[in-house]
Amino acid sequence: MNPIPHVFPDEMEFLRILWCDNANIIRAKAIYLQEGEDFPLKVGIGAGQQGVPVMYDGIIEESGLSPIGEIQLEADLSTFKELDYAPGHVQVMGYMIKDGKIWSCCPRGFLKKMIINLKKINLEVKSSFENEFYLLKNDSEQKKGPEILEETPFASTYSMNINHEFIRELVDSINNQGMRVEQYYPESGPGQQEITIKYDDALVSADNQISFRDTVKAVAHLHGIQSSFLPKIFSQKSGNGCHIHLSLWKNDENKTGDMDNEYGLSSQCKQFIAGILKHLPAIMAITTPTSNSYRRIKPKTWSGAFQCWGIDNREAAIRVISEEDGAVKHVEIKTVDASSNPYLALGAIIAAGMDGLKNSLELGKPLQEDPGNMSPSDLAKRKIKLLPNNLGEAIYHLENDKIILDALGKDLSKAYLAVKKAEWEFFKDLNLGEEVEILLDKF
Ligand code: GLU
Ligand code: MG
Repeated sequence: MNPIPHVFPDEMEFLRILWCDNANIIRAKAIYLQEGEDFPLKVGIGAGQQGVPVMYDGIIEESGLSPIGEIQLEADLSTFKELDYAPGHVQVMGYMIKDGKIWSCCPRGFLKKMIINLKKINLEVKSSFENEFYLLKNDSEQKKGPEILEETPFASTYSMNINHEFIRELVDSINNQGMRVEQYYPESGPGQQEITIKYDDALVSADNQISFRDTVKAVAHLHGIQSSFLPKIFSQKSGNGCHIHLSLWKNDENKTGDMDNEYGLSSQCKQFIAGILKHLPAIMAITTPTSNSYRRIKPKTWSGAFQCWGIDNREAAIRVISEEDGAVKHVEIKTVDASSNPYLALGAIIAAGMDGLKNSLELGKPLQEDPGNMSPSDLAKRKIKLLPNNLGEAIYHLENDKIILDALGKDLSKAYLAVKKAEWEFFKDLNLGEEVEILLDKF
């Protein structure tokens, strides 16, 4: 985090207060900073913003929201960041406030509520988002849809050399905003990149996810290229995942693993994973929330198409990751992509994990083979199912999952489901090209 200046330097002109809506569009209102005046803390927006779908700027009636009604976006000054890719602009994350309290439809407020609930049983989640994205030719140079920049394979040093300037500037900007880059490599799609940021407290990691996405797109634009986190841009090339890595903590100690326990996992972590696994078909309407998301989730693409977990199994939806000495420090959830609102995605995962803890859910055996190689009868014997095949199916599961709906609360679940149903209706008969044309630059 950058320190908040008391006197605004000349070059600081606008404060952006950000929010991310149910359709996962990152938005802000920018307040012009006046020398000598107090730092602005609030700006008004229409409550209907939480009823807007991804494809047009109108409010879905079934969301329960309308053009009437105002909420305040309140700056969380602890998230202050200077944006070197947009000189003169600084940013903070906002909470949506109504009647003096965090509004029931605020995604960031939802995650905060889940964090507080978990804290009541003396647990915390730390997390990070493993982002993948494509670098593409500038859209003005594209003839028939998106075109990749280069043809290099996974982890190719040639790709590192071609993209050196861009990656260097991007990483500088990310680090300057107080996030810590951990790893970078060209991913398996040609022109696809992966950059990971160090884990942090759940709310900070979700904030980081917003800043990361904004920064990648902004720096790419400055370099005259286009970038996209859209889950599936090319049918025959690797998808863009955004796996969530998480660990469970108690009193500042990582309590994910326990070398003396079954599978090297702590009892609480086993229950937490069991909860996530149980609710996965429903929470996918939040973690993989676009029609395009389901083009990515297929067997044999490392995207976790089956409802199972495994130790170091990259085809299981939940991968328990073992370190060199066999200890477990974190787990990975693969059915997540960057078309999901990070506050809602992480909040829903915590709610599911907490159900596992509350009801002492039992974690079945890990799957130590590729489910994509198993016969239907072997899968049935192990009670392993394919996860939802499209957004409509995931919405159906969410509508029937009382635990997740209760966690979201009446207002947020109503608005969220209305937005997602409208999106599904709009996109369900479109082909990949039509979908990409609308969504490529949204994410
Ligand atoms: N691109 C893969 C996905 O869509 C993930 C590859 C990996 O990092 O394992 O989830
Ligand atoms: Mg990857």
